[in-house]
Amino acid sequence: MSSRDRRRRRRPARGRGAEARNPPLPPYAGELRDRLTEAIAGEVGFGGGDRAVYAYDASVYRQVPVGVVTPRDAADVEAALEVCRRFGAPVLARGCGTSMTGQAVNGAVVFDFTRHMDRIVELAPMRHTARVQPGVVCDRLRDAAAPYGLTFGPDPTTTRRSAAWSATTPAAPTP
Ligand SMILES: Cc1cc2nc3c(=O)[nH]c(=O)nc-3n(C[C@H](O)[C@H](O)[C@H](O)COP(=O)(O)OP(=O)(O)OC[C@H]3O[C@@H](n4cnc5c(N)ncnc54)[C@H](O)[C@@H]3O)c2cc1C
Repeated sequence: MSSRDRRRRRRPARGRGAEARNPPLPPYAGELRDRLTEAIAGEVGFGGGDRAVYAYDASVYRQVPVGVVTPRDAADVEAALEVCRRFGAPVLARGCGTSMTGQAVNGAVVFDFTRHMDRIVELAPMRHTARVQPGVVCDRLRDAAAPYGLTFGPDPTTTRRSAAWSATTPAAPTP
């Protein structure tokens, strides 16, 4: 085979959109999608568009997920995890996707907590504690704590965009 032919073979298919570039779904994907849709109140997205959007984070890495779920509450998270466990499907939690070394992308079922689970559940200034849902953004927590002379320690540059929970992970090493 000539080097020109080899170059042609490596070239990706043109003009067929995100669907054409996504790797094939695992054989259990259709069944997994149906069971997840039955099990949770939040959205389940296994289409080419959802998979393409969540294949990116702020890093240079690209990993197309199996699908995406956006849980509405903790019961949804439990139910979705239970379904994924039954299928042996890998799972990945995601905040706002600002981590810079590929932590928020994988060939897994991505749980996006930022769409629905973004509430401050309880702020207890006397105890210096807050209970938050995992999708709450750092600045919202900080603004809520400020009137009590308190703040939220981790201070990534993306504080307006990143979720408080994930700002405490190794993705954000400079609190
Ligand atoms: C331009 C830029 C500047 C930055 N500057 C700084 C900086 O100055 N200091 C600093 O420390 N960081 C910095 N960062 C890193 C970034 O801000 C942090 O990675 C960010 O806080 C992660 O939050 P996120 O919501 O985007 O999480 P994601 O990127 O979505 O996820 C981060 C990790 O947390 C996990 N995760 C998310 N939610 C959950 C959950 N509910 N349960 C379990 N695991 C979960 C994910 O699986 C992933 O491994 C910067 C990033 C960018 C793009």
